[in-house]
Amino acid sequence: MGFTTKQIHAAVEPDSITGAILTPIYQSTTFVQESVDKYLEKGYSYSRSGNPTVRVLEQKIAILENGADCTCYATGMAATQAVMQACLSAGDHAVISDVAYGGTYRLATTVYSRFGVDFTFANSADPEAVRAAIRPNTKLIFTETPANPTLKLSDIRAISDIATEKGIPHAVDNTFLTPYYQRPLELGANMSVHSTTKYFDGHNATVGGAVVADTKELDAKLRYVQNAAGVIMSPWVAWLTLQGTKTLSIRMDRQASNAMAIAEFLEAHPKVAEVRYPGLKSFPQHELAKSQSDGFGAMLWFEVEGGVSAGKRLMDSVKLCTLAENLGSVETLITHPVTMTHADVEPAERARVGITDGLVRLSVGLEDVEDLIDDLRTALAHI
Ligand code: PLP
Repeated sequence: MGFTTKQIHAAVEPDSITGAILTPIYQSTTFVQESVDKYLEKGYSYSRSGNPTVRVLEQKIAILENGADCTCYATGMAATQAVMQACLSAGDHAVISDVAYGGTYRLATTVYSRFGVDFTFANSADPEAVRAAIRPNTKLIFTETPANPTLKLSDIRAISDIATEKGIPHAVDNTFLTPYYQRPLELGANMSVHSTTKYFDGHNATVGGAVVADTKELDAKLRYVQNAAGVIMSPWVAWLTLQGTKTLSIRMDRQASNAMAIAEFLEAHPKVAEVRYPGLKSFPQHELAKSQSDGFGAMLWFEVEGGVSAGKRLMDSVKLCTLAENLGSVETLITHPVTMTHADVEPAERARVGITDGLVRLSVGLEDVEDLIDDLRTALAHI
């Protein structure tokens, strides 16, 4: 079956009692046992350890990513944290992409570092830089591609080959492209990590996360953390995310074509100094994007002539593009990473990896693209 058929039908059965076509929201803390040592057929006991609505979403995402199984979490950060808890112990070391979501950087540098875990932030655009960062005690390679916010790409195949050679699990944060456009496990990675808050939900309604594992053994380690650390997704969030997932491919195709049109408009605009979108031929890793993904996504960034103050003026002048800190939703959102999503990354580190003060991030939504371009054209005229 094709992706769009699977995103609608995979893992979903009509309710066996009522025939309801949508998976019910099993809003129940606990599940009655048949006897002291026997659970009912499905094996549910307590919603921290597993919930039927959450389980349907997990099975659906596992099928879409072509993985062995999936665990869903309260947030995208809870998913990233589960990967770290499943793979790392005191005394271990992990290699992380030097450009990644600011929350991932914060989790590593301010939380896990207190528990005796060491991190190297490597330039994962260069697989050999990842190899060079590996130490005898490296127990996890965590890449994010395309990376938030610079869109730097990591070569998933090449890094997975290095990880396999060294016997280290490789997790890829696949939030920006989703399995519709990129399936890291098919390229050799061991885990695909998502903030479902973004494209899976797609409507700015929930926060959630998911990790798809390539083996049942790895999934079991993650599932253990999901229960032990208490980081599972709620049934309500799973239900809303199930509804969002049914239109994932349709939304992404339209959002990506909107993004391409906006990127081309910005590239030709005299007041725009620089634009980066993986679909543009001018994108430095355009060939890598084509070779490992089926699409370029709907995230782009640009800098306007006149630096930070001009960029701020633009963000204050747009009317349809909304200044807010999310991405992947039907609404087009404009963000200033330095003061918003990446405020907790050290200024020197931001400068080193190219998160400049004037960088404006655009998460392109589903609106009519002419309206979005008009909005940007008018705002640029104010500068
Ligand atoms: N990974 C990426 C690439 C993100 O952009 C984000 C959030 O923006 C996260 C993970 C964290 O997800 P959440 O906000 O759902 O915790």
